[in-house]
Formats: sequence, C-alpha cells, structure tokens
Amino acid sequence: MTVKPVILVVDDEIANIEIVSAALDDDYEISFALSGNQALEIAHAAGPDLILLDVLMPGLNGYEVCRLFKRDAALSDVPVIFTTSLDATEAEVLGLSAGAIDYVTKPFQPSALRRRVGNHIEMKRMRDQLAGLAMQDHLTGLGNRRMLEQRLQGEMRQSGRDGSDLTLILMDIDHFKRFNDTYGHLEGDRCLQRVAAVLGSHVNRGRDVGARYGGEEFACILPDTCHAGGMTVAEAIRADVEAMAIPHAGSPVSPVVTVSLGVTTGTFLPGMTADMWISKADQMLYRSKETGRNRVTGEGAALAPPPGRR
Ligand code: GH3
Ligand code: MG
Ligand code: MG
Repeated sequence: MTVKPVILVVDDEIANIEIVSAALDDDYEISFALSGNQALEIAHAAGPDLILLDVLMPGLNGYEVCRLFKRDAALSDVPVIFTTSLDATEAEVLGLSAGAIDYVTKPFQPSALRRRVGNHIEMKRMRDQLAGLAMQDHLTGLGNRRMLEQRLQGEMRQSGRDGSDLTLILMDIDHFKRFNDTYGHLEGDRCLQRVAAVLGSHVNRGRDVGARYGGEEFACILPDTCHAGGMTVAEAIRADVEAMAIPHAGSPVSPVVTVSLGVTTGTFLPGMTADMWISKADQMLYRSKETGRNRVTGEGAALAPPPGRR
C-alpha cells in the first residue's frame, strides 16, 4: 500500500476546508487547521508534504504563518500555496516573497486545484530525490563525504547542547591498491560494496551515519555513544570484514581483506570544528596502520578544547 502525501489545509472558514477536502481527498490525506496559531501547533505532528494556506485569517495572517514555517528547519522545505479571494497582484507578490511557491484564488476550481497541487507534490518529490542523491555514494549506497560532514556538524552541535558523547570512526581497507592490482578494478569495486554493507549493518541506531569518506575510506558517526561503545562497534566491523574472508593474495597482513580503524570520542566544546574530529580519528587510524593493520585504535575524550578556551 502506498502512503498518500499529506496536505495541511489552513483556513478559518470550515466551508473552504470542506471544498478542498472534497477535491483532494482521493489522492491525499488531508489535515486541517482553522487558524494560523493552530497551524503552527499541529504542523510538526501532521508532517505535511504541502501546505494550502489562507491569507486572510483572524490572528496571525497567512504571510506571517508562512514566514514562521520558512524559518523552521523541519518545515522550511514544504511547499506553501496561498489561497485567497484577493485578486490583487500586490497580494500575490507579498505571498511569493513570504516564501510561498504558488497562489490560488477562491472560489476553488476543483480540477485546477488538483492539477496544481499534483504538480507541486511531484516537484517536491523530485527535489527530495535529488537532494538524497547529492548526499549518497552511488557505488555503495552509503552517505558520501558531503553527508558525513553535514551530519557531523549537526551532531557536534547536539553534543554541545546536551553534553552527550559523540563517537567518530574512520576506517580504511588494508593494502587495497594491491587488491586492485591483483584482482582488477571491478573486483575492487565489488569488495568496496561488500565492506560498505558490513559497515552499514553496524550503524543502525536512529541517528547513526555510515558514509564512504573517500576511495577506500569509510566513516561512522555514532551520536550519544561512549568510547567503549564506539570501540565495540569498530571491533565488530573489523571482525565481520575479516570473517567475510574475501581473498586478498597480495596482502602481507592476511590472506583475506582486512580493515584498520580509528575511533575518537568526545563532547563538543565551543570552537571545535568537524576537521578536528576527523583529524583525531585519522591519527588513530594511522596508528592502527603503523602497528600492523587489521586492528582498532581509539582515544576517548582526547579532543583538546581550542586554545584560549577551557
Ligand atoms: P593502506 O593499507 O596503507 O591503506 O594501503 P592502500 O593500498 O589501501 O592505500 P592507498 O591509499 O595507497 O591506496 C588506496 C587504493 O584504493 C588506491 C586505489 O586503487 C583504490 N581505490 C580508491 N577508490 C577506488 C574505487 O572507487 N574503486 C576501486 N576499485 N579502487 C579504488
Ligand atoms: Mg586510504
Ligand atoms: Mg587503504
């Protein structure tokens, strides 16, 4: 069963909501609010894919509500269509500059409304799909470096707010150049996919992120995870990669493909940057490489606050 897109209809006249519902409820799930304030209250829970917003309402008017939606990270991407009986260009310009994507006038013509809503829902779906692709590594399906950096920034801020531990793991395949040299690039790609799948299977808590950081380098962000927890995840990934037993005849470390990992854990302090976390995890990874590969090295709470801060 496919889930119907949700449309939030905001209008102080129930008759208008009924007309819109009758026109759209075959294809969409309709939520409604009878005022701007009520719309703000229920918008998060409703999780709309599109908002039809009346301009003239007692209390907060549509322009004000639209501006508030656009400032809200959870709602700012949701297309807003203004509905109004005003037919002045001035109103149209105001609505569009408040962040609305389109404008329909009342009385509604059901077929035109259906068509317009359908177009905007489809465009939103395509935008979301593109945004997803821009954050994804096409070979492995994991997040890409852009996603990793963006999510790391977000989780650092969250750690700063609630004082929680944030763990970052970097992982690199051992002697992968020799793997390509021995088995060819295509087989190398297949190996990357299988290693990525192992990593993906271990980053399954709500906000965990698994990403391909570069060629044969991967990363995991484990929010709200202490150092011991992060080390356990890293060791489980290492052991599972080894247990897949992908032959690697050219490796001086092992007859099968292995990985080295670096783990760092800390709590965000003002002035810390994503680069600091990544370079600390990278130092740990380097130590794993230096001391023989196919191992995990970590350091907890080792991120020094930036100079001049405590
Ligand atoms: P180390 O154990 O020190 O990490 O050695 P390494 O050979 O893995 O490291 P190095 O950085 O020298 O080589 C990484 C190799 O990864 C080089 C390149 O051939 C391979 N590689 C990078 N991206 C891809 C890719 O998308 N597909 C394939 N098949 N190979 C890749
Ligand atoms: Mg490398
Ligand atoms: Mg490598």
